Amino acid sequence: MNMTIQPRKRFAQHWLRSEKALNKIVQAAELSDSDRVLEIGPGTGILTHRLLPLAESVVAVEIDRDLCQKLVKKIGGVENFLLLQGDILELDLETTLAPFPKFPNQNKVVANIPYNITGQIIEKLLGTIALPLAHSYDLIVLLLQKEVADRICAQPDSKAYSSLSVKIQYLANCEFICDVPAKAFYPPPKVDSAVVRLRPQLIEPHANNPKQMEMLVKLGFANKRKMLRNNLKAVIERDRLSQLLENLKVNPQSRAEDLSVQEWVALANSLEDL
Ligand code: SAH
Repeated sequence: MNMTIQPRKRFAQHWLRSEKALNKIVQAAELSDSDRVLEIGPGTGILTHRLLPLAESVVAVEIDRDLCQKLVKKIGGVENFLLLQGDILELDLETTLAPFPKFPNQNKVVANIPYNITGQIIEKLLGTIALPLAHSYDLIVLLLQKEVADRICAQPDSKAYSSLSVKIQYLANCEFICDVPAKAFYPPPKVDSAVVRLRPQLIEPHANNPKQMEMLVKLGFANKRKMLRNNLKAVIERDRLSQLLENLKVNPQSRAEDLSVQEWVALANSLEDL
């Protein structure tokens, strides 16, 4: 049983034990037998077990050596499974997988990720506004903190809408799949969780100067209560920004959270290089 493997805090280990949540994750991944899945943090393998019969192959990256040994004993012999021991943030997947022609480029990611490195994992999977990942995945299903899931999927004018919403929605189509309560895990994390599905694709039209767009978003959201023209005054004169916003049919008194991702791109593209 899962519960006999003592979870380690250091690696943010929380074993999922809800059939309902597992079903939702697997359904959201829309798996077919040509899918090559990357799983991050397989832990005791509860999700891995579900993925293996539905996909062409599963490559799992797990940092915990002891868990890796147990996983190898359990499912090491399964033909379409490859376990890599290592830190997902450090690992160069392409190079590591080069000697394994049976496990070519993964097209989907399905994972219950360690919450202490959520931001870094998402950046590894999608890149950034300034540097989007050229060959990202077709689809990414993640179980993560509900608060982060809310921010990723938030629309303008909502409490959760933040620079993270703009950053991720610039890089991917984002869907909130379902809530997962803390009690679905052993031990329960301090926060509630949720499943999101991301389909990487750059928003259209995209920023002419992505570096500048990234900088504007960061500055614009620096103080959410202030009007955009005040947050950005160090880089654009207030009157000029008001004029630009008016040209875009956006209220010049807007705050960062009032602008949709498309409006952020339009604003960035209406500026010459700063
Ligand atoms: N998928 C399992 C476990 C989720 S807990 C389940 O649903 O039950 C998160 C998992 O990520 C743990 O197994 C932990 O050891 C692993 N992990 C933590 N940091 C990691 C890292 N940097 N790289 C790869 N795996 C990591």
